[in-house]
Amino acid sequence: MLHVAASGSYILGSPVEELERQLADYVGVRHCIACSSGTDALLMSLMALGIGPDDAVFVPDFTFFATAEAVARVGATPIFIDVNKENYNIDVEDLARKLEHVRSHTEFRPVAVIAVDLFGLPADYPVLRPFCQQQGLRLIEDGAQGFGGAIGGMKACAFGDIAITSFFPSKPLGCMGDGGALFTDDDGCAELLRSLRVHGKGIDKYDNVRLGLNARLDTLQAAVLQVKMQHFEAELQAVEEVAQNYNTLLRGAVGIPAVPTGFRSSWAQYTVRLASQAVRDNVRKALENNGIASAVYYPRTMSEQPAFAGICSLQQPCPVAERLAQTVLSLPMHPYLREEEVQQVANIIVSKQAPAAHARCSSGCTINNKIR
Ligand SMILES: *Cc1c(COP(=O)(O)O)cnc(C)c1O
Repeated sequence: MLHVAASGSYILGSPVEELERQLADYVGVRHCIACSSGTDALLMSLMALGIGPDDAVFVPDFTFFATAEAVARVGATPIFIDVNKENYNIDVEDLARKLEHVRSHTEFRPVAVIAVDLFGLPADYPVLRPFCQQQGLRLIEDGAQGFGGAIGGMKACAFGDIAITSFFPSKPLGCMGDGGALFTDDDGCAELLRSLRVHGKGIDKYDNVRLGLNARLDTLQAAVLQVKMQHFEAELQAVEEVAQNYNTLLRGAVGIPAVPTGFRSSWAQYTVRLASQAVRDNVRKALENNGIASAVYYPRTMSEQPAFAGICSLQQPCPVAERLAQTVLSLPMHPYLREEEVQQVANIIVSKQAPAAHARCSSGCTINNKIR
């Protein structure tokens, strides 16, 4: 950071180029284009694919708002897809159903899927990739939370025709402000993204051949990220250990996040499922009383967002996503969480499950009511 400060060169330049090379090599793709945020990266990916009005883009109903916001921002229509109830990622069977619905009941042209690597777990790409290919749909990977994840030997942000990530501080690889990146194997697409990043530049930024954005990554943030990359694998191993500890302590008491065989999560969040919204509120309060932060990602599905009220009549139900919005809770999760801290969090959560467990006798009646 001092080196950048002393250089007097704060926009792009070699620190950004070095970082891009490093990130592309890490992911195992030809090109990385660093940019200003994950949201701008999503926007640029849609612009690069020429997606706009009359196009339908399929996005999970259970995600951060930016995934669907970017689709609507380019004038296309997001169609919300339900998710898997144990790993929270897009449900490809529901995608097939809703794709069929859009084809047979609307005038929209289905063009792309944005799959989200929610909470650090890659989406079901072994199924999604061939599906999108067969159906003529482009695949964008929203790896904002997924950087560092993998399926077999293939890293997150290598699965989409274009993939994006975010360096927002709370993401697996966070910087000290806003930042993001795009990944692609396509040379032409990479060039287009570099143009879109700087006002649709041609030969230079005063030769403007298309409408773009100002969406560069700050050089200072590239310096921060270069240092953080040196510790990234160690941090991934540390969060994996935290997740295993949570799994051991919480299995059976609450719904723990499922990781399919061969998948690696980067554990952006460790998110459990509680029996009901009331139980969740109780657990949150108990944690808070002990000075422990927790968060609800996400309290509303995309279908339930006021900003999408105007397109709600186009949507089909997503019951799993709705249920998750009522019952999920994300627990403290970072590489420097100590074992006894994990134990303390787990103890509080397990203790708050006990009344519900006791309330049920073997025949299914509720003995608590009779006692009262
Ligand atoms: C954080 C996030 C984004 C947006 O990234 P920013 O860098 O905050 O703009 C997009 N999609 C998902 C799934 C995210 O979690």
